[in-house]
Amino acid sequence: MRVRFIHEKESELLKHSRLMSLFAELDPDPVFRFDLDGNIILSNQAGLKLSGSDYIIGKNITSLIPELKEVDLPALIKEGKLFTTTTSFGEKYFQFTLRGTPELSIGQMFGSDVTELKLTEQKLSKALKEAQASEQMKSNFLAQMSHEIRTPLNSIIGYNDLIKDVFGTQIPDNLKFAFLAVENSSKRLYMTIDKLLIASQLHTGKYDVHLAQIDLHTLLKKICLDFSSFAEEKGIQLKLDCKTDDTLIFADQYSIHHVFQNLIENGLKYTEKGSVEISIWKNASNNICVDVKDTGIGISKDYLNEIFSPFSQEESGYGRSYEGTGLGLTLTKKFVELNNGQIHVTSEKNIGSTFTIIFKK
Ligand code: ADP
Repeated sequence: MRVRFIHEKESELLKHSRLMSLFAELDPDPVFRFDLDGNIILSNQAGLKLSGSDYIIGKNITSLIPELKEVDLPALIKEGKLFTTTTSFGEKYFQFTLRGTPELSIGQMFGSDVTELKLTEQKLSKALKEAQASEQMKSNFLAQMSHEIRTPLNSIIGYNDLIKDVFGTQIPDNLKFAFLAVENSSKRLYMTIDKLLIASQLHTGKYDVHLAQIDLHTLLKKICLDFSSFAEEKGIQLKLDCKTDDTLIFADQYSIHHVFQNLIENGLKYTEKGSVEISIWKNASNNICVDVKDTGIGISKDYLNEIFSPFSQEESGYGRSYEGTGLGLTLTKKFVELNNGQIHVTSEKNIGSTFTIIFKK
């Protein structure tokens, strides 16, 4: 009885080990086993096929996978470590995983065909390089164009001022608007090209940050003064209210100036009657905040979700009632974040909008 039991047990074990060796043998992926010196002691059919030879027992694994010359195989086996490498066989790519088995002083290696993956990786890498090259070309183009447009614009603005000064009172009233039109259009073009250039610099990380101490109250007083005639022309009240003594921030001068210039200009642009109020205050976390609040046309809930997307405008196309590039708020948000701040907006159609900037400590 006991002898029969032992026989049955042995035959079961034999069956199991045969199945195990068949398992590796029939595996469609290559499997190799090698000793401490890297000499192959076992290979399945897929391994033989890959090697292109009928007999590879005794050959060194590094003759198949040269990348393994850099690996300390005895150490890998003794320490039971895992190692992964990818190598090419003709037009195919295989990824091999090696594992040391210290108990048997052998290494096992399993390969899988990663040709598709590798080709996709190569395509992606090529696409990335092309995208980087075109990004570079776009930046160079913008920098070059910006220079080419700014230089003649400077002469147009300069000579327009000169002619206006020389002829002074002799300029008939019906021509004065022409000088103003040249001045305003040139400035608008100048600002548009400036926005495009800065957007590109920010996008490519080439914008130079110059940190300095800035007094927000002084800065906002100056910007309000710059816009006072525009506000007056439109009959809109432009007010500045400072509710805190602490108005100093450490930030990038150019970008902070741009942020408030854009928000105040938008406030005035998109308001037909009422006011644009700027207030400097401190929140519960002691952060300096600035509100730019207008009583203008307001922004719909839908558009609020994309208000900071580049070139987006609530009303677009040739028939739009307001001029602009749709880039101002994109730059504003990027500039605010560059200065470790946050921007929030609340708005109601036909009631007005409030843009809040929070400068984090
Ligand atoms: P734009 O050059 O068109 O003014 P912005 O990026 O500054 O570009 O603003 C994007 C859009 O957001 C504007 O076209 C306008 O539809 C809306 N918008 C911005 N500010 C206001 C505001 N204060 N009131 C109402 N709508 C505004």
